[in-house]
Amino acid sequence: MQLNKPKLKVGNTIVIASHNQGKIHEFKTLLSKYKFNLLTSSDLNIKDVNETGKSFKENSIIKVKSIPNKYIAISDDSGLCVNALNNKPGIYSSRFAENCGGWDHAMREIYDDVLKKKNTDFTANFFCCLTIRFEKKKIFSYQGKIKGSLVWPPKGGMGFGYDPFFIPHGYKKTFAEMEHNQKILIDHRSIALKKLIRSHLIDS
Ligand code: IMP
Repeated sequence: MQLNKPKLKVGNTIVIASHNQGKIHEFKTLLSKYKFNLLTSSDLNIKDVNETGKSFKENSIIKVKSIPNKYIAISDDSGLCVNALNNKPGIYSSRFAENCGGWDHAMREIYDDVLKKKNTDFTANFFCCLTIRFEKKKIFSYQGKIKGSLVWPPKGGMGFGYDPFFIPHGYKKTFAEMEHNQKILIDHRSIALKKLIRSHLIDS
């Protein structure tokens, strides 16, 4: 039932609950046609929250709640899930990279871990849970997933995070070799965002 779901309107102020410039760039491009007034956590001097949740959904809800209730807020918790590693690093994707000393080291370590399993299964997916919180604290979450394969060596200079390491199924380029506008039309974030937009169809 779509009828009772709160609606977004042209001109609404929406806070993107994130400090991740890669994600913020994608949200701003994907939402540009709806003419919202987009702010981010930094615009409100809100610090990164501790991601203490046990799932993408729990973490995205923790993030969206970091924004004061008077704002409509959107958050994303996402990560790379590698099949041969039981979906790791998953919700720890960002922290895993920090602990490894950066993206290059993290990709190397994941690749080596798959090899150590004497496994030739390099399939993986990017997963995203998007949460929107309306005024009056109404919260809705939407998920997106894109399947693909890890490649070695990583390729491409665009995008962010694990983008150079991942080729989506049906494509020959890594996310980091794709133009921004191509990647964001197919990635996990845009799949979840399309569901969100469909559910909270814009009233103009
Ligand atoms: P978090 O949701 O802030 O915990 O961070 C998600 C982490 O997952 C990012 O810092 C990246 O490491 C990874 N990630 C999520 N989405 C993408 C993507 O579209 N491309 C590359 N890496 C991503």
